[in-house]
Amino acid sequence: MNLKLNLSKNSLTGLIGVAATILGCSHTDKPVAKQPNIIFIMSDDHAYQAISAYGGPLAKLAPTPNIDRIASDGMIFNRCMVTNSICGPSRATILSGKYSHVNGFIDNTADAKFDFTQNTFAKELQKTGYRTAVIGKLHLGGVPTGFDYYDILPGQGRYYNPQFINPQGQYEVEGYATEVITDKTVKWLSEVKDSKQPFMVMMWHKAPHRSWEPGPNELGMYEDVTFPEPPTLFDDYSGAREAAALNNMTIANTMTMDRDLKMSDKPRFGLNEKQLEKWNAVYGPIYEKYKKTNPTGDDLVRFKYQRYVRDYLACVAAVDKSVGKVLDYLKESGLDKNTIVVYSSDQGFYLGEHGWFDKRWMYKESLNTPLLISWPGVIKPGTVNNDIVSNLDFGETFLDIAGAKIPEDMQGRSMLPILKGQTPSDWRKAHYYHYYEHPSEHNVMRHYGITTDKYKLIHFYYDIDEWELYDLEKDPMEMKNVYNDQAYTEVRQDLHKQLDNLRIQYHDSDSLSKKFIDEYNEKVKKNPRIEYWKLSAKDMQKLFTQPAKQ
Ligand code: CA
Repeated sequence: MNLKLNLSKNSLTGLIGVAATILGCSHTDKPVAKQPNIIFIMSDDHAYQAISAYGGPLAKLAPTPNIDRIASDGMIFNRCMVTNSICGPSRATILSGKYSHVNGFIDNTADAKFDFTQNTFAKELQKTGYRTAVIGKLHLGGVPTGFDYYDILPGQGRYYNPQFINPQGQYEVEGYATEVITDKTVKWLSEVKDSKQPFMVMMWHKAPHRSWEPGPNELGMYEDVTFPEPPTLFDDYSGAREAAALNNMTIANTMTMDRDLKMSDKPRFGLNEKQLEKWNAVYGPIYEKYKKTNPTGDDLVRFKYQRYVRDYLACVAAVDKSVGKVLDYLKESGLDKNTIVVYSSDQGFYLGEHGWFDKRWMYKESLNTPLLISWPGVIKPGTVNNDIVSNLDFGETFLDIAGAKIPEDMQGRSMLPILKGQTPSDWRKAHYYHYYEHPSEHNVMRHYGITTDKYKLIHFYYDIDEWELYDLEKDPMEMKNVYNDQAYTEVRQDLHKQLDNLRIQYHDSDSLSKKFIDEYNEKVKKNPRIEYWKLSAKDMQKLFTQPAKQ
């Protein structure tokens, strides 16, 4: 029997009453605000140093006025940390609310895939009545589940003329990825804006990931600006930092002149004729000048740093415009009144600190990630928060906001009380971290550790066994390992105890680390591209003691 065709007037009135109750209307007919919508904007590798709301030496030279609007309308977090500072694993942690060793996505090696059969905050939001969507870079492999709508880049995706995958298949869009992803998101918002169903949409950008290709509207915008160099650009890794000294991610030796810095005669891959013309008009003269001046030594490092940061910040400028476009649309459509806007990055990034680009380390630039949240009527505008929060907490927070039950096996904690201005007295005072992807191209040793407000304790392992301790108040740039300094004996003992407890709390252990090493070695043996991964860390580094081939 078809219910719709057999409703009498009386039964229809009854059903409306039931529906009104479900939607939150009380018997007094006073409407209750529906669950808030959530727009979760995330970029890829966006350093907090490149967001002007965080201040710092780049803020005035390369402002991000639109991202800053989220801070002035809401809350900015100074201590948002990630559990494993690399793209895929961070995204897996956010979706699952679990550490890498629990959700199974521990590194970004070639065939890494997130197990989408497991529970995620998106699936839980669906259960509680939300419409969910993801647009842009997901970078988890496989077919996403938990989303009513998806339109995502395959893998890393391209900056120019990106391909997308939706349930109908793969297709290409002419244009610049950051702008295309924004337009798709605004279109999706316009389609759901009048729906009674609350939504959660993730607009996840590809930018400003390596190799930092600025869009047609931002090309060359910073070529006349000289950015200040970070004080540690020429870090020599003294200070008892054995693992850091083995790195292969310096601007000096690892960053490439052609692919990364666009100093090349070869046409840029993936751009059409018109786009190439604009591209060459900017990079051609810079390349000619570079060939003429031919800098070497420290001057070459300085040249590379400026080129890198100019391109990186131009990519960020497009992301900032994207945020502005979405915020403007929310206002125009009236959605702003009941929509939470979250801005974050999958991790932080080095903009020349320690001489580096990239991420991975538990040092502050890559451990910390930007987080800004606005929520009209709930978050007090202009709030600065210093609590230690984590990307482990995002999912739980969204579920709490939605009034959904938080699954007990999620390992984070809802930040809802913090958003309301009341940090619980038992909020975490220390954060646990674990990075796995080694041996791999940047030669960052596997490590885990604990960070508190004042100290950081790290254990590097695999074919190294090094403990590091940093006094973050005295040494905020983390240049001197004081692990063996007797003055820190008590601090060290206390941190070890806290670290052991966190490992028990989060179900991590040395035997799990060993299991992941065995699995990793099996995996990389099958990949002929990475023969050299069999080498020891020291031999690996010898390969990179000469500047990379340009
Ligand atoms: Ca990333």
